[in-house]
Amino acid sequence: MIIVPDTVEFVRKDGRAYNELRPVKIKAGVLKRADGSSYIELGSNKILAAVYGPRDPQITKIKRPDRAIIRCRYNMAPFSVEERKRPGPDRRSIEISKITAEALAPSIILEKFPRSSIDIFIEVLEADGGTRCAGITAASVALADAGIPLRDLVVACSAGKVNGHVVLDLTEEEDKEGEADVPVAIMPRTKEITLLQVDGELTPEELEKAIDLAIEGCMSINKLQKKSIERKIWVY
Ligand code: UDP
Repeated sequence: MIIVPDTVEFVRKDGRAYNELRPVKIKAGVLKRADGSSYIELGSNKILAAVYGPRDPQITKIKRPDRAIIRCRYNMAPFSVEERKRPGPDRRSIEISKITAEALAPSIILEKFPRSSIDIFIEVLEADGGTRCAGITAASVALADAGIPLRDLVVACSAGKVNGHVVLDLTEEEDKEGEADVPVAIMPRTKEITLLQVDGELTPEELEKAIDLAIEGCMSINKLQKKSIERKIWVY
């Protein structure tokens, strides 16, 4: 007899159910010198986001006559991971910076600010899997905190496959041991997807399940994003 693992019954190493997020905390307006900022905790992840602008990018050739440009830097602190991370950009952080700018772009009314730049800094202080998603979520709150006109917030969350089960919000350990990780970002009002990455192998059915699960996670986190902007207090 083949025993089919039942995902609903599957308990993860940290005791979560398959569709359970790690505890989330978000606070807007944490940095005085930035135009907008936020701080997020997602499980053990601790991430700061700061936004400057719209401002003059200072470099003439990158200015666009019809809209603002987005410059984004995702950075991991050397002490944010188990094995010291060498300071400075690497392939991974350059990729995450690029996809973060692209995930946020559809939400920003860039046409309002021609010839200017909106600069986004994401600093990972402690990492435990899912930092690109938490960084995008925090950056969107920081953009709203900066008073930059937005069509909607952007919220991100990942789902993936671990030991044959499709689960929400993978920890670093699950990411390493698991078969696949699927980060998803959406604009929650329309559920338009602004980021979809797939790292690993899943069947088309599993991928669909992972995307649905990630969107559910996004919708829960979006409630906290909205509260954090309204109240500028800790929400979780
Ligand atoms: N990580 C690490 N060292 C690195 C890069 C990543 O220990 O140089 C860990 C970190 O906890 C990160 C996790 O591996 O969150 C998963 O990394 P991935 O590239 O999948 O991005 P993320 O899931 O953070 O978006």
